[in-house]
Amino acid sequence: FTLPARPRLVMQEVGFAYGEQPILKNLSLTVEPGEQVAVVGPTGAGKSTLIKLLNRTYEPQQGIIQLGGQDLQNIPMATLRRTVGVVPQETFLFSGTIAENIHLRDPSIPQAAVEEAAHKTGAMAFIADLPEGLNTRLTERGGNLSSGQRQLLGITRAFVFNPALLILDEATSSVDTISERLIQNALQELMVGRTAIVIAHRLNTIIGADRVIVMHGGEIIQGGSHQTL
Ligand code: ATP
Ligand code: MG
Repeated sequence: FTLPARPRLVMQEVGFAYGEQPILKNLSLTVEPGEQVAVVGPTGAGKSTLIKLLNRTYEPQQGIIQLGGQDLQNIPMATLRRTVGVVPQETFLFSGTIAENIHLRDPSIPQAAVEEAAHKTGAMAFIADLPEGLNTRLTERGGNLSSGQRQLLGITRAFVFNPALLILDEATSSVDTISERLIQNALQELMVGRTAIVIAHRLNTIIGADRVIVMHGGEIIQGGSHQTL
């Protein structure tokens, strides 16, 4: 099963509800290969739910979602995992080495790829300072790292799987100014040449996007460049 290297994402009249109450309504959105789209909207608008449909945590109840001309439901999970990379608001870490937390114990990811990704995102700067570098063990949920360091590992993890479509749920947890700059640099590095959908909380991210869509009550109520909105 193969997808185009740079697949187009098409959502047509997508509807979704967790229970009775509709959460996404008649949502249509096309993202062209290489395009970077920022999604903004108030809490509860359905932004994170949209992400959960795109990585197939849930299936839409109405409408279609296609990636590279294929219905999302027909794409094998293994292919989907390699094509759609999600950087969640909070990075999930487990007790294991830093390397394992980056490659998720996927045997097809060579050590060299982990190192390269960690260099590209800048995570290597703090990893190299640890006594055992990439082989340093994390405690449960990465409790021995700062929140900025955890985010850098989450970004490095996405990088190593080289996804064509990147979905970022921008973190809202506060980090100091230096970490903030490191994280922004890492995200910029990760987004180069990729199609991206960013749930944006920061003005800089919104300004940097090709297009901004505004969600409210499960619908797209506006779209355009940040100048026109
Ligand atoms: P935020 O900006 O706070 O992250 P959001 O736009 O990401 O908000 P969603 O998390 O998509 O919003 O939630 C949209 C709606 O769906 C909310 O009303 C929320 O309570 C509801 N919801 C989210 N997850 C579930 C769930 N697992 N079960 C039931 N309802 C849910
Ligand atoms: Mg959310």
